[in-house]
Amino acid sequence: MDELLRPVVAGIKEYVPGKTVAGAVKLASNENPFGPSPLALEAIAKEARNLHIYPDQRSTLLREALGRKLGVGDDSIICGNGSDDIMQVLGSTYLNPGDEVVISKNSFSLYELIARIFDGKIVLVDLKDYALDLDSIAKAVTKKTKMIFLTNSNNPTGTIFTAAQFDAFMKMVPDNVLVIVDEAYAEFAESKEFPDTVKHVKAGKNVVVLRTFSKYYGLAGLRLGYGIARPEILSPMFRTKMPFNVNRLAQAGALAALGDKVFLDKTYQNNLEGKKYFYAELDRLGLAYKKTEANFIFVDIKKSADECFMALMKQGVIVRPLTSFGFPDAIRVSIGTRKQNEALVESLSKAVGAQ
Ligand SMILES: *Cc1c(COP(=O)(O)O)cnc(C)c1O
Repeated sequence: MDELLRPVVAGIKEYVPGKTVAGAVKLASNENPFGPSPLALEAIAKEARNLHIYPDQRSTLLREALGRKLGVGDDSIICGNGSDDIMQVLGSTYLNPGDEVVISKNSFSLYELIARIFDGKIVLVDLKDYALDLDSIAKAVTKKTKMIFLTNSNNPTGTIFTAAQFDAFMKMVPDNVLVIVDEAYAEFAESKEFPDTVKHVKAGKNVVVLRTFSKYYGLAGLRLGYGIARPEILSPMFRTKMPFNVNRLAQAGALAALGDKVFLDKTYQNNLEGKKYFYAELDRLGLAYKKTEANFIFVDIKKSADECFMALMKQGVIVRPLTSFGFPDAIRVSIGTRKQNEALVESLSKAVGAQ
């Protein structure tokens, strides 16, 4: 079989997801602790009657609703089977073999996967003080650079780059580079400095903003992500994507979730309170952490993350050890309900004390 394989595939490892164990408190994948949006569930149940009919390949109603919300035309929105699907469509539409793709080290692994699948050349840039280093990223751009992936808020550190930093960055990056800003956690950002990247889309820049229904809207299992970019960037992607990549339930569920104000407010408020709770408790335990603009916290436990993960799992709490992200002494903890957060703190105090 090996001789049939494309050489680039030989170096690709399967994605390792956060662990799920029935009955455990799962704080490993930044999912919504309140479950799916209730309005989404209702809409999905209704839509199920139409499952014998192919879905709208352009997700028209959902794109119109997102466009209204963001102040852009529906031709500035594309929907995908999760935002990872849109990353792949970006690759299949724009990446030639050998094109350079600039990515931050110790970050979300899917950007590298996309670059590898399309035989791009990966250019890695170090983080600076656990945050994206936009200056160094801009300096890594060459004539061969096709794409830059930025994550804001950053996974797994929860840090952001500010509007001023992004504006300065955009001035340094040439117009023939696609700047992809993955804002999977944007809705949780508390900082007033969080950039309005859609503003750059409206200004005609080559910026692609990625958002998702997986985190804030509680629909990770449904698979719905979207991209925001100027129509000239998106229209070829409607030709290269698989026509029915977004199923009927996802389109209907996401549309309903968008309007589920009660659920969304509760989600935001719980996250704020969870952050405060964790900061206080981690201070009490003497553990170093990063202030977060997302729904998870990066905790530097200063000992083996894998061992800590196992010790916590034995107590029924699942977190994400960051060994595979290049932080063997740190874990990422999703912010859960008050009760889940308390369970984590109790287990963590035993785990870090007992080792
Ligand atoms: C969770 C997450 C996503 C969401 O991906 P989907 O495919 O939409 O579920 C995207 N980017 C980052 C950095 C994430 O952490």
